[in-house]
Amino acid sequence: MSELPDTPRRFVAGAKCPGCQAMDKVVMYRKAGIQYRECVACGYLDEMAFEQNFRELETRVNRTEQEKQEELAVVRLLDTGRPT
Ligand SMILES: [Zn+2]
Repeated sequence: MSELPDTPRRFVAGAKCPGCQAMDKVVMYRKAGIQYRECVACGYLDEMAFEQNFRELETRVNRTEQEKQEELAVVRLLDTGRPT
C-alpha cells in the first residue's frame, strides 16, 4: 500500500526537548513514512517508531492479505480434495 504523505515541520506546543530541555523548540514531521522529532535549538533528532496511523495501516493490510490467502486455501481444498 502507499506510504503516508510527508508532512511539513510543525512545532509541538508544550513539548520539551530531551536533549537541551528547551520548551517549544521541538518540531515534528514525517518523511518517507517515518515520524521524526527534531529540536531546532540544539539539533536533537529522534525517530518516532510508534506512529499510530502507520501501525493501523499495516495491521489492515496484513489482515486483508491473510483473508485472501485463507480464501484461496479453501478454494484449493475444494478443487483438489475430491478424488476423481
Ligand atoms: Zn534541544
